[in-house]
Amino acid sequence: MNATSEKRIALISVHGDPAIEIGKEEAGGQNVYVRKVGEALGRLGWQVDMFTRQVSADQQQIVQHSENCRTIRFQAGALEFVPRDNLFDYLPEFIEKFLAFQKENNITYQLIHTNYWLSSWVGMQLKKIQGSKQVHTYHSLGAVKYNTIENIPPIATKRLAVEKEVLETAETIVATSPQEKQHMRSLVSKKGNIDIIPCGTDVQQFGSVDRETARAKLNIDPEAKVVLYVGRFDPRKGIETVVRAVGASELRESQKLHLIIGGGSTPGNSDGIERDRIEGIINELGMSDITNLPGRLCQTVLPTYYAAADVCVVPSHYEPFGLVAIEAMASGTPVVASDVGGLQFTVVPEVTGLLAPPQDVPAFTKAIDRILMDQQWRNELGQAARERVINKFSWDGVAAQLSELYTQLLEQPVTKSLVQTLEQTLEQTAVPPAVESTKQ
Ligand code: UDP
Repeated sequence: MNATSEKRIALISVHGDPAIEIGKEEAGGQNVYVRKVGEALGRLGWQVDMFTRQVSADQQQIVQHSENCRTIRFQAGALEFVPRDNLFDYLPEFIEKFLAFQKENNITYQLIHTNYWLSSWVGMQLKKIQGSKQVHTYHSLGAVKYNTIENIPPIATKRLAVEKEVLETAETIVATSPQEKQHMRSLVSKKGNIDIIPCGTDVQQFGSVDRETARAKLNIDPEAKVVLYVGRFDPRKGIETVVRAVGASELRESQKLHLIIGGGSTPGNSDGIERDRIEGIINELGMSDITNLPGRLCQTVLPTYYAAADVCVVPSHYEPFGLVAIEAMASGTPVVASDVGGLQFTVVPEVTGLLAPPQDVPAFTKAIDRILMDQQWRNELGQAARERVINKFSWDGVAAQLSELYTQLLEQPVTKSLVQTLEQTLEQTAVPPAVESTKQ
């Protein structure tokens, strides 16, 4: 690459809007990842355009985050929220809008980084249409997820096929942990290139508040033992496990035990339904006097919550990476997490926290109590946790690794087989068959 103007990247995240409020239904780690990676790449001199689907008329079509980094929203289907399992049919229209945008702005994105399987399909079509090189991050693997839920959605077959195809055809897949890479190899395909580049967090923001100040701000007794959960209300997140584990804690009698469950929800939507279910369990266990549900916690207040907690619990049934774990760790708070996926990579048992089998309430109780009962050990774990995040998981470090990958890919010539595919595609039609067949 010889000119900075060529340092251009399209980050595609059809269902995870990087400019939206984080912590509500379907807005979680992916939104944070795309936004933070985009901003950090912008600081490294990349022109970053992040593409997503517009869900309401009051959303701006273009949001400028910094000089080099913006979110661009396309209308695909009605201007309303559509759950991700129902989004596939809107993708051809999304691609049409993308192509029109390129034409209007006289840009052709040579490099596209797609996020989640829906966007991976968009990226694969753009590869066929214009030879864009594709980097892909899964954020969640159908092959793993469908093993952990009871009701497999009708879209599952399509998703599994798309996830296999992108692994075999993208220039590079970014796995966010060695565990995720292993899942791809054992459950999806042996073919394809995989690099491991983790997710990151803001080590200045998380870790900026000390425990005493945090507790004073939140009006929490300095002597209380505080257990914190942060995340979406989704059964896959295992909130029930932390509630039942705290309910069975040996410290329950001491009156000083306190559980905070932070996360947004909308009544009637799937997250509202899960919140109601969790509140039902809290009442059933007689825990309403020791539990607090403050709702969605914005990114500015989150560091205070993490700092105020004695332990942060991440009880997911499945977690490809788990940003909450590294945010808590960066804040100097040890983590008790399920022994699954990316959490096995971020949390080092007995060093930065503890791991327990998912949904194993007694194991979670035991792990939480061990940390709560030994303040000095708790502080040592917390300090080691922060050091681990500083060394391995800062956004700037993550963006530097991605930047290096993108630069290498842009320098590589387009492969012969791709040139042939492109020639064939151009001969047949300007729009790939997959797009045409789903058009009305
Ligand atoms: N989050 C937030 N406010 C909330 C709940 C969650 O800002 O009330 C953020 C949290 O800080 C983290 C992200 O949402 O950055 C959740 O990411 P994670 O990878 O832990 O889970 P996911 O939502 O991707 O399943």
